Amino acid sequence: VHPLRAAEEGRAMDTDRSLAQVGAGLGIAPEKLKKCKELCFNEEFSIPYFRFKHDVEHVEKGTVVFLGQKPEFMRGFPKIRRLMTLSAGLGRHFKDRVIAEEKMNGYNVRIAMVAGSLVAVTRGGLVCPYTTENIRHRLASNAFFPDNPGLMLCGEVVGLMNPYQTKSYPEEKEFGFFVFDIRDRLSGKPLPLADKEAMLRKYGLQGVKNLGTFPVNDSKKLLALVRRLGDDGREGVVLKDASMSQQAKYTANQSTNSDLEYAFTFFSDYGQPFFYRRLVREAFQAYEAGLNDEQLEKEAAALGRSILLPMVRTIRAIASGKEVTEDFELRVPSMDFGDAFLEHMEHLGVRVSVQKITEDADGIVLRVKRHYPSTNDKTRAYLAGEFCQE
Ligand code: ATP
Ligand code: MG
Repeated sequence: VHPLRAAEEGRAMDTDRSLAQVGAGLGIAPEKLKKCKELCFNEEFSIPYFRFKHDVEHVEKGTVVFLGQKPEFMRGFPKIRRLMTLSAGLGRHFKDRVIAEEKMNGYNVRIAMVAGSLVAVTRGGLVCPYTTENIRHRLASNAFFPDNPGLMLCGEVVGLMNPYQTKSYPEEKEFGFFVFDIRDRLSGKPLPLADKEAMLRKYGLQGVKNLGTFPVNDSKKLLALVRRLGDDGREGVVLKDASMSQQAKYTANQSTNSDLEYAFTFFSDYGQPFFYRRLVREAFQAYEAGLNDEQLEKEAAALGRSILLPMVRTIRAIASGKEVTEDFELRVPSMDFGDAFLEHMEHLGVRVSVQKITEDADGIVLRVKRHYPSTNDKTRAYLAGEFCQE
């Protein structure tokens, strides 16, 4: 709901006061905020909040402001740019040396204490009830939050039991949270790497792996490391300056292939730029790795397999009368919670249905099917001989 609509509904006084406080906190004129279509008002969570759908002046997309007794801020997580060529990119964007952290492949979550309880916010600035519940389970009694009310943990949730990105890690099969940044909630400014690591040690919080420090002229070693991560089924690295004044991401072709394989299963539900960007990325890595003819053939075959095989699997399944869906499991404390959460997903435009329910000591496990109508409809139509519209 836009603040102006909230105003129409008779909360004009409140809204004006809140916008003034939000503007003052973030350094944006309240008049500008009032007119701003990028600002949404959300009332589904126990505490109402504003969310920035897009950047507004210097304030990043994904920024949230909770409207409790006083406004409580959580700045958005900034975009990390991607290097396509390490050898030239390192020296161009970093001074002397870079620290390579593992880039974990899950979804981005910011956590802070809001009105006395932990809240988990996803990249776009929505409170995720499922993630919040799981994080409270793990971190509610961690002294980090009461000791540092002005800071937030930024990290990746990985594992198989979540509604957004399912990838198991040997160290966390179902649900794990790995911190990569500690940031000031109001300014968004990150702690330098050494301070972050000291804090994580102090509070016993799990961080992403620090894979070492590399001179900017040693891109070969770094590329070899990334390729090895890829062989191990891992995604790649985020390169960081010790002071956190610069960062860049770089990922392994093997990981890009598994993204492609997944996305081509639902080829018509993913935008074409998603695929194209990844193909170009792979070419630059294959070039930079200096592959010989035989190795290049292998790389090409792996890429081809991750395109053709999932699509043929999809076509075969639909031809035999099945529906192609994405299936995952969620662990919820109660059936009411599960129902409310699935409603939240439908709200976000994700079509899901619950297929099977089992109950164990830790709660209820839901088996959720996510539907991909476009891929299913289109494939059925093509199989029936319809013309392609593209
Ligand atoms: P964007 O391009 O806007 O950053 P994206 O979803 O396309 O978003 P990715 O390609 O996944 O981003 O890369 C950036 C994301 O990587 C971060 O937003 C964060 O969630 C995740 N990430 C995983 N490990 C780390 C790490 N060690 N340091 C920083 N970010 C990390
Ligand atoms: Mg990611």
